[in-house]
Amino acid sequence: MNEFELIRRYFQPAACAPWCQLGIGDDAAVIAPPAGQHLVLCTDTLIAGRHFPLNTAAADIGWKALAVNLSDLAAMGADALGFLLNLSLPSADAAFVEQFACGLFELAEAHQLSLIGGDTTQGPLSITITAFGAVPPGQALRRAGAQVGDVIAVAGNLGGAAWALQQGDQAAPALRLKLDRPEPLLGVGRALRGRARCAIDVSDGLAADLGHVLQAGAVGAVLDCANLPLHPALRGLPPMQARELALYGGDDYALCVCLPGPVLSQIQAEAELNLQPIGEIIAQPGLFQRGADGKLSAVETHGYQHFA
Ligand code: ADP
Ligand code: MG
Repeated sequence: MNEFELIRRYFQPAACAPWCQLGIGDDAAVIAPPAGQHLVLCTDTLIAGRHFPLNTAAADIGWKALAVNLSDLAAMGADALGFLLNLSLPSADAAFVEQFACGLFELAEAHQLSLIGGDTTQGPLSITITAFGAVPPGQALRRAGAQVGDVIAVAGNLGGAAWALQQGDQAAPALRLKLDRPEPLLGVGRALRGRARCAIDVSDGLAADLGHVLQAGAVGAVLDCANLPLHPALRGLPPMQARELALYGGDDYALCVCLPGPVLSQIQAEAELNLQPIGEIIAQPGLFQRGADGKLSAVETHGYQHFA
């Protein structure tokens, strides 16, 4: 099977969304952005062995490649629309591509997203997806904007993917799903648009990602580590180990937001969003935790870094 057959067979959709004027098959796609909205674009690459274990099922690789991008759109408060797919494959392995496409479109269809183009090359297995969505002008949730006194809250749970990775083949199937099939919190991001002051998706560990929010807002934070929303599989672990995984483990794809306390109460009263308060924004730069004695101590903000 050559490159063109492969694209036609596995990636060309039967129909495109109304906003897609021209999809796969020409030199480029043409889209009509939603009237009066701003486009939000992001791209993320997954490299075999670095961003997913080599034994990851093809369908899970497809799902995850899209999920990590949708998590970025969620963190911006965007309505996701569609995506482009750049595939580098060692060979035109039909069984692999079929399964890959299966996982990819399972997630795409769950959010009514259209694949509108991409590129296919031979090389070491890596997948780059460029996703896009829309927001009303001025309403994108940015990293900057946290204000002193804001509550810091997390949607989703923490530490499960890192724990699955550490456990390798010993990881329970339900836990392994957390690593292989993260659920992007698009509905949460959308609901927080116009209500949260800032947001970030937690992909490199809460401490590192919250660190970006603090830097962007030129503020600091005090965490109440007893309130971190741990993945259920971490509950039996020694508290220090669970805390390490929750603060420094990657691949959570939770959302971390800052918002005024009354806004959080209002959202929780509506009971549609599960937002866990985990701390407060303070003027003093840095990340701290409050001990049982009430005293503050510094929390390291290191996370996963390429080239570190
Ligand atoms: P070009 O040579 O102009 O770059 P390609 O042969 O790479 O064109 O692509 C032909 C068409 O197939 C284009 O519309 C492109 O967007 C689409 N395409 C290529 N690879 C993929 C892919 N992996 N997923 C979706 N669309 C793809
Ligand atoms: Mg090309």
